[in-house]
Amino acid sequence: MKIINSISGMRKLALKWKQEGLSVALVPTMGFFHEGHLSLMKAAGSKADHVVVSLFVNPAQFGSNEDLNHYPRDLEHDAKLAEDKGVSCLFCPDAKDIYPPGFQTWVRVEGVSQRLCGTSRPEHFRGVATIVAKLLIIVQPDMAIFGQKDFQQLQVIRRMVSDLNIPVNIIAHPIVREPDGLAMSSRNTYLDAQERESALSLVQAIRLAEKMVALGNRSGPEVIQAIRNHIQSFGNTKIDYVFIGDPESLKPCREIVDETLLALAVWVGKTRLIDNTLLKQ
Ligand code: AMP
Repeated sequence: MKIINSISGMRKLALKWKQEGLSVALVPTMGFFHEGHLSLMKAAGSKADHVVVSLFVNPAQFGSNEDLNHYPRDLEHDAKLAEDKGVSCLFCPDAKDIYPPGFQTWVRVEGVSQRLCGTSRPEHFRGVATIVAKLLIIVQPDMAIFGQKDFQQLQVIRRMVSDLNIPVNIIAHPIVREPDGLAMSSRNTYLDAQERESALSLVQAIRLAEKMVALGNRSGPEVIQAIRNHIQSFGNTKIDYVFIGDPESLKPCREIVDETLLALAVWVGKTRLIDNTLLKQ
């Protein structure tokens, strides 16, 4: 597996593969790999001749009071895990090359960026859309794979790729969970034992909602209230949002129809966790 830091080196390798007629899948990440990341890499490997994993803790998607400086990092371990998954190239650019002095071009996806996480993290999706656009331009992959764990991010990227006519196939990958149901996340490492217990309130609330819908309840407000009650019964939790709405436009709705998005963001102590599901009738 090659580890490439320079943008020009990455471009050169991707171009060589293209000239050889080989397909490329890109998996953008911020590193500190867990099974969620690794299953994206595996899926990518089953679909393309070469997998490029980008590892870049993107400063532009962190707010000024967020965890950029504490975000977990372990390049050596990540490189080993990626190599074991058959990844061809780990692309780890420097922030000073991605955002050189004088940088002033941002990709802002309106609408879908402004709701849910966009309310409490107003610049987050501008940072995400910009870095993903740059990675797609540098690597020019045939496909790029994103986890449904970050459902809103996936929709922002789909919108951007469609609106800007970027020639890439965006593939969604299901959420990978711990055996007890907690959605895997690099940020789970922040949780102490008690917070880890409270973190289970998210997946439990999702299962509660799924059960209510399976029993015939179609009322968004009632399901939201049940979710809020459940999460608030745990110590150390503070709800950022509980959303029920259309999975594409991310507009809220009152009536649950087939494939309605349920998404939540909850603070557990100082850690903000997200989770979601598509409710089915
Ligand atoms: P991150 O390193 O957190 O930016 O995530 C990189 C990619 O992995 C994104 O497409 C995420 O949606 C995806 N991802 C993170 N956690 C999970 C998970 N538990 N299941 C599936 N995909 C995930």
